[in-house]
Amino acid sequence: MNYHNYYPVDVVNGPGTRCTLFVSGCEHQCRGCYNKSTWRPDAGHAFTQEMEDQIIADLNDSRIKRRGLSLSGGDPLHPANVSSVLQLVQRVREECPGKDIWLWSGYLLAELTIEQKAVIDLVDVMIDGKFEKELHDPSLVWKGSSNQVIHYFKC
Ligand code: SF4
Repeated sequence: MNYHNYYPVDVVNGPGTRCTLFVSGCEHQCRGCYNKSTWRPDAGHAFTQEMEDQIIADLNDSRIKRRGLSLSGGDPLHPANVSSVLQLVQRVREECPGKDIWLWSGYLLAELTIEQKAVIDLVDVMIDGKFEKELHDPSLVWKGSSNQVIHYFKC
């Protein structure tokens, strides 16, 4: 997997103070996408073991308390990303007790593959659906267009 950007301290993408990872790779091609540079799976930087370890360490850093991890992109559920994202969320669950995981994806919850569902089984919140330019509403919280749905699984 490649990633586009990583914010170790972020107060914009999800509730509270968080770590946010923007992965590379998205096949949805939404009209009006604000993040086209993330579409190619080989864009950005390699997501290394060191990067994964850094995210776990940041989540457990008591000097700046993080509420959890946000996964966005690109699409964390792109087929090229699923195995790496699964490994990451499994580690967060095992090594970062009390931290929540939010995940944004253009895929619909009802249409996920078994592999994608295995990731979603471990997250607290999924915001699903493509960005629809005609349904864009800047007053929406945590989503860009009104067709998208915030699924709260564990909170
Ligand atoms: S799902 Fe997100 S990153 Fe992918 S094309 Fe749509 S708006 Fe862009």
